[in-house]
Amino acid sequence: MQKIERGRFAPSPTGPLHFGSLVAAVGSYLEARRQGGEWLVRMEDVDLPRNVPGAADDILRTLEAFGFQWDGPVLYQSTRGEAYRAALEALKSTGMAYGCACSRKEIAEASSVAAIDGGMVYPGICRAGAGGRPIRAWRLRVGNEVVAFEDRLQGRVAQCLARDVGDFVLLRADGLYAYQLAVTVDDEFQQISQIVRGADLLDSTPRQIWLQRCLGYRTPTYAHLPVAVNPAGEKLSKQTRAEPLRTERAAAQLVRALAFLGQAVPEALARSSVVEVWSWAEAHWSFTAIPHQRTISAPRF
Ligand SMILES: [Zn+2]
Repeated sequence: MQKIERGRFAPSPTGPLHFGSLVAAVGSYLEARRQGGEWLVRMEDVDLPRNVPGAADDILRTLEAFGFQWDGPVLYQSTRGEAYRAALEALKSTGMAYGCACSRKEIAEASSVAAIDGGMVYPGICRAGAGGRPIRAWRLRVGNEVVAFEDRLQGRVAQCLARDVGDFVLLRADGLYAYQLAVTVDDEFQQISQIVRGADLLDSTPRQIWLQRCLGYRTPTYAHLPVAVNPAGEKLSKQTRAEPLRTERAAAQLVRALAFLGQAVPEALARSSVVEVWSWAEAHWSFTAIPHQRTISAPRF
């Protein structure tokens, strides 16, 4: 049986889609479709306190208005607690996951090494047991070896998880499953074969590959697209007040997203319809034309 390529777009419902999210949606969509593959949408709403009421529906309506067609039902991480629990249990049973009793303050006092994600490298205090203190969170043991992969756009990426990240959290002190665990479990569950997403997630990938190995999952291919940044060099996001996508200008914004991804899209298509833009894009999509940078300035509208 021939293997079907499968890509995905996984927004967090923390606000409306903006140009940066559109770039990730367009890139993952066209790369899957070009190979006759499927494209799935997953709502990454595992971090419940960050969810904005109505944002998930708004995101789906926007995707529809922009002419995206996804395969199968949308998967909501907020419904996946049982699957995350089972994965954590499996990691506990092999001794890879352990309970941690440390508070943020204790870790900050005991660690002097900044982690790649902005926190502090966990110094392994509870690796041999929490010493009878109440468990706050569950962490995954990482190895001293280098975890490396070949990104299709960014080249070879290598991290020594012990040095760069430390044993990372799977189940948080607030009782919520961590993003890294949820994403890894869901990519396997949805049989995603190719991950195309923004380069802001490049540093998370070695952790997700490590989790895949610990859980006996396959590793998909990775392509990390340039991230759209504002004139201050900040990633477009709700926090940096990125302008929401406007559905009445969908064709023009799709054309800008294609141009951002290095495609030789005719400017005149900006004044046509989304159907015409997609018909051009599906016929002309060139993965090799995508710039290899981690960030690129967003176009002015
Ligand atoms: Zn601890």
